[in-house]
Amino acid sequence: MAYKLIFLGSPGAGKGTIAQKLAEHLQIPHISTGDIFRSNIKNRTPLGLQVESITSSGALVPDELTIALVQDRLQQHDASTGYILDGFPRTIPQAVALDNLASIDIAINFVVPQEVVIARLSGRLTCSGCGRGYHKIDFPPKTPNVCDICGNALITRKDDTMEAIQYRLTVYEKETAPLIQYYQEKHILANLNSNQNLENVFMELLQTLQQVNK
Ligand code: ADP
Ligand code: ZN
Repeated sequence: MAYKLIFLGSPGAGKGTIAQKLAEHLQIPHISTGDIFRSNIKNRTPLGLQVESITSSGALVPDELTIALVQDRLQQHDASTGYILDGFPRTIPQAVALDNLASIDIAINFVVPQEVVIARLSGRLTCSGCGRGYHKIDFPPKTPNVCDICGNALITRKDDTMEAIQYRLTVYEKETAPLIQYYQEKHILANLNSNQNLENVFMELLQTLQQVNK
């Protein structure tokens, strides 16, 4: 089934992990603006150089730049029938722009208490090769500091320092949380309890998707 989905929720709510899983399951692309920025930074592209200091502080990349990037990505062939947007939109202007680009089936809001979010982010490890996420305690790799999938080293993201985490949560409350009401008013919002183990979150998500008429 090909859905056009938005994953909403605070940093550390588990959107990325579940998006990877669902994208494989449904065979649709996982479009993460954060991943796209990080791969541009790693490859030292002009875009990467432009956004490097912004993303490491936990601030948002300007809307125009982000919207243009997503517009371009959605025009690619693999996104013609369905996709998961993870980390976009993150502001009201981005959501308004998306309304003109696509017809979204459902916006999933990953709900998790703030103290859980902080614990998750401060233990997070990210693969320097493929970007897959791990956690020091909750979801460790099979071999310490090595990615199970691609074998590259795991690192702590620059924006996973305590200071940047606090800042990202403030930005989330101010800029992104209003999108919950935005999609509720459009009657396409579904809340998902993300404060449970991965398998249960995933199962609940599949149940929610089954209720969407496709
Ligand atoms: P998180 O773990 O906070 O959900 P992401 O991996 O989605 O982080 O994004 C990392 C960083 O990339 C953000 O803190 C921000 O600087 C930038 N970014 C990602 N998506 C967007 C967006 N839609 N608008 C602006 N900036 C973004
Ligand atoms: Zn990897």
